[in-house]
Amino acid sequence: MANSGQKVVLITGCSSGIGLRIAVTLATDEKKRYHVIATMRDLKKKDKLLEAAGDAYGKTLMLLPLDVCSDESVRQCINSVKDRHIDILINNAGVGLLGPVESISIEEMKRVFDTNFFGVVRMIKEVMPDMKKRRSGHIVVMSSVMGLQGVVFNDVYTASKFAMEGFCESMAVQLLKFNIRLSMIEPGPVHTEFETKMMEEVAKMEYPGVDADTIRYFKDVYLPSSIDIFEAMGQTPEDIAKCTKKVIE
Ligand code: NDP
Repeated sequence: MANSGQKVVLITGCSSGIGLRIAVTLATDEKKRYHVIATMRDLKKKDKLLEAAGDAYGKTLMLLPLDVCSDESVRQCINSVKDRHIDILINNAGVGLLGPVESISIEEMKRVFDTNFFGVVRMIKEVMPDMKKRRSGHIVVMSSVMGLQGVVFNDVYTASKFAMEGFCESMAVQLLKFNIRLSMIEPGPVHTEFETKMMEEVAKMEYPGVDADTIRYFKDVYLPSSIDIFEAMGQTPEDIAKCTKKVIE
């Protein structure tokens, strides 16, 4: 349970990557300013986080299950937080999707929107009433540079982040009068499992109805150059966690 003076921070998508690192960075804060509720949709994946968090688990770090695509899971998760009191919500969970639009089913596109857009909307709707009552709170959203700029072959992912940016920009104005801040973080490439997961999907991709030039450009030009960009410019999850900590301080 949080000590008085500690801020309760709930983070989505802490099984890997940026979410895991934010949870560890905040839970191991030297001044113990944060009580971290790290959530993940499958608690069987908790070992990597617990190993990285060391003895913070059970002190400044606790775990809860949460699938941001499920209304019921979101409700249960927030209800199980003491007094539904969350000072800082960090919406980090997200999925990528890469490839020519003709190769991607509407179902896959909906999954991306359900996670990256509606996942954030569900969380904000659930925490907002209590934050409004307390007239305090901070909501942080992990967007992307692709929430600001379209990138070839990332059409659906980019659209999901643009949608979220639009929603959050509008919400921020409403929330301000209740003393609730809404911040967006827009990283460029970050070395996490995100890229690997997308590449695994690309390896299984089929190209029905896609013209030969587009397939060649995607496979022979786009993919190798995007891997090079990741190698050359990729930040670490630690970089993004430090930035997130600065944003909430
Ligand atoms: P990872 O793939 O390492 O982490 C994504 C996390 O989201 C995982 O914990 C995953 O859980 C979780 N997640 C996915 N779907 C759900 C769901 N329905 N409910 C709850 N959790 C879910 O990627 P990153 O750490 O890189 O990504 C984190 C965020 O950063 C994302 O929003 C992404 O869009 C954003 N971002 C990433 C960049 C990058 O280059 N890596 C660049 C810019 C932004 P599970 O293990 O269960 O799949």
